[in-house]
Amino acid sequence: MITRSPIPLQRRAAEPSPGAWQRQLAAAFRDPRELCRRLELEPRWWPGAETGHALFEVRVPEAYLARIRPGDPQDPLLRQVLPLGEEAEAAPGYVADPLAEADHTPRRGLIHKYAGRVLLIASPACAVNCRYCFRRHFPYEENAPSRAQWEETLAYLRDDPSIVEAILSGGDPLAASDRQLAWLVERLDAIPHLKRLRIHTRLPVVIPDRIDDALLAWLGGTRLHKVMVLHVNHANEIDQAVVDACRRLQAAGVTLLNQSVLLRGVNDDADTLAALSERLFEAGVLPYYLHVLDPVAGAAHFAVPDDTARALVAELRPRLPGFLMPTLVREVPGEASKTPL
Ligand SMILES: *Cc1c(COP(=O)(O)O)cnc(C)c1O
Ligand code: SF4
Repeated sequence: MITRSPIPLQRRAAEPSPGAWQRQLAAAFRDPRELCRRLELEPRWWPGAETGHALFEVRVPEAYLARIRPGDPQDPLLRQVLPLGEEAEAAPGYVADPLAEADHTPRRGLIHKYAGRVLLIASPACAVNCRYCFRRHFPYEENAPSRAQWEETLAYLRDDPSIVEAILSGGDPLAASDRQLAWLVERLDAIPHLKRLRIHTRLPVVIPDRIDDALLAWLGGTRLHKVMVLHVNHANEIDQAVVDACRRLQAAGVTLLNQSVLLRGVNDDADTLAALSERLFEAGVLPYYLHVLDPVAGAAHFAVPDDTARALVAELRPRLPGFLMPTLVREVPGEASKTPL
């Protein structure tokens, strides 16, 4: 047959097969030594990796590892996921719940700190365990609600007409099943005063195949305005598969933003931050927040001093168009919004 219509091969190749992301998630590296071996790190890294792992378990899928240079302990992606002995060192001011979120949990799995917006813990799990995570000590067992508890959480939203935006967070909300998410979003959709659905997720970056047809079906089906806030800290995290995932999301009507954390040894120089903004834009994503590190126990070695952070942003501003400048913020417990530095 020569009359066959041309097959868009590239498009085909970019579309994930059903269930591919669950298999990748299940196969993620969870053993610190295996991770070191996979990345060709010398044995001297093993004891530290074991120490850090005992405090907050290792988790990295292959799709993310593939973007890391083997044998390079300074790789900016590696530094985000490899446990280190430093995590066991106590540092003054670094605590288990730096944001005092435990004070703002009126229902299980719900955090209401800011006007008009509530944050819902849609999944306790993440596809990757980031070593600097401010939720590394979060009591997820107490915050992984059942369906009946979800009904109470939904009633809280229904009863407060000032709430216009539901933010799915976690963990990583996209680690939940599409069945669960479709159920939840259908109920949110039915709350008349709700206008926006926001999803804070790292999964499209860590396992781009997560953005498959099953996800796009419930996401594309809601009347709510859709915003997805990705979490990318370095341009190297955005490979072609991530760009393709972003395209699929945009085609479903999702506004894409990014938040980063300013991390020592990962992205604490102006060249790196400029490259990140440029690369995000190539993927159709606008920079939103650049967070200073939350003082969570075990992450002090990632800290960048405030003065350095301000100087970096001052150096960055003249190099980028305004729409590619993230806002440098800190989360101060008790404040009504993120606090610009
Ligand atoms: C960061 C955060 C939000 C969202 O804040 P924006 O400034 O709207 O991005 C909402 N709720 C909680 C609990 C948060 O930590
Ligand atoms: S994906 Fe987000 S919530 Fe999960 S470990 Fe990383 S920073 Fe923390």
